[in-house]
Amino acid sequence: MIGGKNQFRLVVCCLLALLLATTVSAKDKTKVIAHRGYWKTEGSAQNSIRSLELAKEIKVYGCEFDVHLTADNVPVVFHDQHINGKDIQKTSYAELKDHKLPNGETLPTLEQYLKRAKKVKRIKLIFELKSHATPERDREAARIAVDMVNRMKLGKRTEYIAFSLEAAKALHQYAPKRPVYYLNGDLSPKQLKELGFAGLDYHYKVMQQHPEWFKKAKELKLKVNDWTVNEVPVMKEMIEKGADFLTTDHPEEALQAVQSYR
Ligand code: MG
Repeated sequence: MIGGKNQFRLVVCCLLALLLATTVSAKDKTKVIAHRGYWKTEGSAQNSIRSLELAKEIKVYGCEFDVHLTADNVPVVFHDQHINGKDIQKTSYAELKDHKLPNGETLPTLEQYLKRAKKVKRIKLIFELKSHATPERDREAARIAVDMVNRMKLGKRTEYIAFSLEAAKALHQYAPKRPVYYLNGDLSPKQLKELGFAGLDYHYKVMQQHPEWFKKAKELKLKVNDWTVNEVPVMKEMIEKGADFLTTDHPEEALQAVQSYR
């Protein structure tokens, strides 16, 4: 027979364990990253400064954005390789600077974007360095990018991602204390660990083809990010499999999907 006092202690212990488990699961829940900012909403546009402000307003973990280096080494925030038929990486900044985004903003330079990011506090900056034409340009772009982020004292809020292995390696070399994730989907968790990267940032279909990589990544203390997860059933599938991050064009739906697991 368990006495009244012991029974009470047992109940208190169970409640504490439950509380602890709830706290841990809430803390460890999947985080949401707004892909190219929060742009599918009034007054916004992909990779605009407004899309960063709006991502902050809806309280996502991070705002992803894309950076190319112009021919004269000015980093600009834009997704596509071309603007009005001109290859950004082969064109001078002077020839691109008046380009208007769909919301009326002018093409942001990285410096302008980061200046605003300093005022839009706390949200993580998920910095995608686009692939450049040669390994030398990848390394040069990485050096210029990290130098600017550090000079503006945003190093601790910035996480780097890249499709180019050369660029990812260079980012890791120049920002060794910051997380670097590889996007291209062709390396195993073990290979990424050996390269010193923080984890996998792979298309969700790659993770569906390699469900064992979720477990392997956890064993190796690597984080798993999935892009670009725009459908609620896939969001839920990735959350259930243990994704640390979801990168999405629908951040509000992803936040709701995450909340449904609390
Ligand atoms: Mg991107």
